[in-house]
Amino acid sequence: PVAARATDVWKVYGAGEAQVVALRGVDVAFERGQLTAVMGPSGSGKSTLMHCLAGLDSVTRGHVQIGDTRVTGLSDAGLTRLRRDRIGFVFQQFNLLPTLTAEENILLPLAIAGRKPDKQWYESVIATVGLGDRLRHRPSQLSGGQQQRVACARALVARPQVVFADEPTGNLDSRSGAEVLGFLRDSVRDFGQTIVLVTHDPNAAGYADRVIFLADGRIVDEMRQPTSDAVL
Ligand code: ADP
Ligand code: ADP
Repeated sequence: PVAARATDVWKVYGAGEAQVVALRGVDVAFERGQLTAVMGPSGSGKSTLMHCLAGLDSVTRGHVQIGDTRVTGLSDAGLTRLRRDRIGFVFQQFNLLPTLTAEENILLPLAIAGRKPDKQWYESVIATVGLGDRLRHRPSQLSGGQQQRVACARALVARPQVVFADEPTGNLDSRSGAEVLGFLRDSVRDFGQTIVLVTHDPNAAGYADRVIFLADGRIVDEMRQPTSDAVL
């Protein structure tokens, strides 16, 4: 089963001399329950691909789907609903609300959607995030790595079809970065989460089931790895 797919996706920004072709016919499917890392040099189109897949940006040609839903052509209201109900996001800058506790931040997507947490699910997410009594702290009282783990838990809490993480370790030292990558990896192993991880971080490949390399708007290479989970 495919959680997200891009079919012959082209993305052109601007026009005339200012025109930039950011994606040049990208075909890729992200299988359910896998962590895929999208790597490549700066400007190769990684963020653009993620934004197109997540319905944050329109495609110039081709189409994208999330699960069975064709994203291309959805109304703005449809896109908002898709992002709210079926996609989780993790950003480089954590983007936590400073006046809420860690726990309130994690529960925010459910509050916005007017849903109650499934207790068992919520408790496994909380156990995986591993913050203990710091759950009642505000973001400013947490380390960068802890804040990003809170942001990851927030992205997972509504059980989205796909989590898109854009440079989640970009602002972290390598040890905190490894904790965040480990958390994402655990959510794939324990919950069958599907994750698309856009990253420069050379350590990220070791946590991924599959690595896709972009260069100049095209997929130029792909690597599947037997992760320790897959072997078990
Ligand atoms: P990456 O994430 O791999 O660094 P991006 O997807 O951000 O690459 O960018 C791909 C190309 O598209 C780059 O040349 C970038 O400058 C250009 N680009 C990205 N977003 C925009 C935009 N909103 N307007 C114009 N050009 C853009
Ligand atoms: P990232 O670190 O994720 O590659 P960037 O710093 O390249 O992000 O870009 C930040 C934001 O600016 C993104 O939303 C991207 O789409 C937009 N952007 C990137 N390049 C350009 C550009 N040349 N012109 C306008 N917007 C751009």
